[in-house]
Amino acid sequence: MATLELKNINKIYPNGFHAVHDFNLTIDKGEFIVFVGPSGCGKSTTLRMIAGLEEISSGDFLIDGNRVNELGPREREVAMVFQSYALYPQMTVYDNIAFGLTLQGVDDDVIEERVLKTAKILGLTDYLDRLPRALSGGQRQRVAIGRSIIRKVGIFLMDEPLSNLDAKQRVTMRAEIAQIHRETGATTIYVTHDQTEAMTLADRIVVMKDGYVQQIGTPKELYFDPVNVFVAGFIGEPPMNFIRSVVTGGKVSFGENQLDLAPLLGDKAAAYEGKKIVFGFRPEAIVLGAAEDSYHVTCSVELTEMLGDNTNVYVVAGEDRAILKVNPYDTPETDSTITFSIPRKSVYLFDDETEMVIQQQNAVLNA
Ligand code: ATP
Repeated sequence: MATLELKNINKIYPNGFHAVHDFNLTIDKGEFIVFVGPSGCGKSTTLRMIAGLEEISSGDFLIDGNRVNELGPREREVAMVFQSYALYPQMTVYDNIAFGLTLQGVDDDVIEERVLKTAKILGLTDYLDRLPRALSGGQRQRVAIGRSIIRKVGIFLMDEPLSNLDAKQRVTMRAEIAQIHRETGATTIYVTHDQTEAMTLADRIVVMKDGYVQQIGTPKELYFDPVNVFVAGFIGEPPMNFIRSVVTGGKVSFGENQLDLAPLLGDKAAAYEGKKIVFGFRPEAIVLGAAEDSYHVTCSVELTEMLGDNTNVYVVAGEDRAILKVNPYDTPETDSTITFSIPRKSVYLFDDETEMVIQQQNAVLNA
């Protein structure tokens, strides 16, 4: 296990493209960190700098307090699993897993003990004599993970390791990766653009956009206390609803509905009078009907999507639209008029200009 420190890390590619800006993060021993963000935000570049596969343009990278910017991947003692898991096709599962140790000249009986133990953790014991072509995608990916964890390094780096698997295999492998992390205790950094993987696996998530870190926090912190519109919209499915409205007489409008912000804005109300504000609420935070301590909104139902465990209801009020997540047994009729309630404690207000949160919910503390 190892502690990692990234201090003001920047990456400028030879063509002048500034892919990562001032990345700062300290990772504790054994922590599971997930980098998440849309395509091109700099996740893989940052991971590759940590692995020693990409030069760090400026800043310091420390492992256990030692600056390792100039060290190569082997000297950093990291294990990596990539999206494409090239196994040796002519070698059995056993030999694929053993390969790294064989190269190091480790004794055969030690190799056997370690391969059997690794295979057991990964559920590959019955497949050790098979060639990769006789395995499913999920099993091949497990062999690739086995090949990495057998080296017993303190740092485990994974770049979209599940993206070649189908939806069901991804769910199974996700649980297995969590289990492997518990068993090995390795400090892990995992790159994905899938927020479900991020939310379920991470101790802490780093949300990136355009090469900049947007927020670093536990899954709970990111869900309940997003710092800006981007993070609020990135975590959660369907994403948070945003109503952009000019504050008039202390109120924002959702179609014909006037929602009084005085209880939320408090002494900031005067500063926002006449300014545009972003009023956010999550699709799953609402309740149908008129509840207490809530904003009541009347709107019409444009479309409903029955998903099985819930229904997404698309509503419209004037120019504004929102998605509500409701119990399938309560699915309203298309074109009907409904009233729903947004509990005050689940409303987020953002500055429309800076897109930063105005009033932090601190709902983590209340949840
Ligand atoms: P994805 O999810 O698509 O893999 P990512 O967040 O991992 O995206 P990176 O691969 O880190 O993104 O790329 C970040 C940015 O750097 C992108 O705009 C990419 O085009 C650019 N980039 C990557 N490699 C190079 C390179 N060798 N030279 C110049 N620009 C590069």
